[in-house]
Amino acid sequence: MAEQPIIKLHDGNHIPQLGLGVWQASIDEARQAAVAALQVGYRSIDTAAIYKNEEGIGQALQETDVARDDIFVTTKLWNDDQLNAERALETSLKKLQLPSVDLYLMHWPCPQKDSYVQAWQQMIRLQEQGLTKSIGVCNFNEPHLKRLIEETGVSPVVNQIELHPMLQQRTLHAWNALHQIQTESWSPLAQGGKGVFEQEVIKRLAQKYDKTAAQIVIRWHLDSGLVVIPKSVTPSRIAENFAVFDFRLEKSEMSEIAALDSGNRLGPDPEELN
Ligand code: NDP
Repeated sequence: MAEQPIIKLHDGNHIPQLGLGVWQASIDEARQAAVAALQVGYRSIDTAAIYKNEEGIGQALQETDVARDDIFVTTKLWNDDQLNAERALETSLKKLQLPSVDLYLMHWPCPQKDSYVQAWQQMIRLQEQGLTKSIGVCNFNEPHLKRLIEETGVSPVVNQIELHPMLQQRTLHAWNALHQIQTESWSPLAQGGKGVFEQEVIKRLAQKYDKTAAQIVIRWHLDSGLVVIPKSVTPSRIAENFAVFDFRLEKSEMSEIAALDSGNRLGPDPEELN
C-alpha cells in the first residue's frame, strides 16, 4: 500500500491527511476505535472537549504500541470556554493524559458572543507555552478569519468545516488556501452517506475501482487537497476508510463529483450557532 500523505502546515508542523473522528462515540467506543485505527495505520485522531470522550483517547494512547510522537492529537475549545481557554486546555490535557496536544482548535466562532478574538489571543499564549504545537479554528467564515488575522497577526493553520460532496464550500476552501490555511473536512461522509452514497456517479466509481462508496468519497477529499477525518466505531469500517491510498480519481471523475454540490448543510450554520 502507498504511504499515507502528510501535509505541512504554515507553522512548519505536519498533519496526516487522513485521521479518525470520534464525535458521538462514548469514552469506551472512542478508546476501542482509536486503538483499532492506530493498529491499521491511522496516525491522527480528532476529538473535542464537548464530545466527552477525551478520556477514551487518553486510554488508547496508553494502550497502543505506537509512539506518542508518531500520533497527531487534535482537541477543541468549547464555546462556553472561549474566555477560559487556559483552564479548558488544562482539563483536556488531563483527560488525554498528555503534556501537550498537536492541534488545539476553537470549535465555533459564535459571532454573537463576540469573544473569538479574545479566545484566539489566549490560544496564541497556549501555543507559546508549548501546551499545543499548533492552533486553528473550526467553522470560521471569511469575515471571522479576516478579523482574527487583522487583530492578532496570527493566522490559524487549519479551518475545520463541514465539507462533503453535497456541501463542497469551494469559495471558503479557496480563500483558506490563498491564506495558507489548511481546510479540514468534518462530516466528510455526510454522516454515513446521507444523500451521497446512493448517487449514481459514486456507485459507478465504486464499481470501477472495486471500492466502497465511502472509500470513493474519502478519496475525493484526499484528491481535493483536504484533510479528512471520517468517524467510525466499527473496526471493519475503520480499516475500510483507511484503505484508500492505492488509487486516485481522474480529473473528469472529480468534475462529476463536483456537480453533486447542493449547498445543503447537515450541521448548524456558523453564523447562527452561539
Ligand atoms: P462522518 O461523515 O464521518 O460519518 C460518520 C458516520 O458514518 C457514522 O455513523 C459511521 O458509523 C458511518 N460510517 C463510517 N464509515 C463508514 C463506511 N465505511 N460505510 C458506511 N458508513 C460509515 O460524520 P461525523 O459527523 O462524525 O464527522 C467526522 C468527524 O468530524 C467527527 O467525528 C468529528 O471528529 C469531526 N466533527 C467536527 C465538527 C466541528 O464542528 N468541528 C462537527 C462535526 C464533526 P459507525 O461509527 O457506526 O461505523
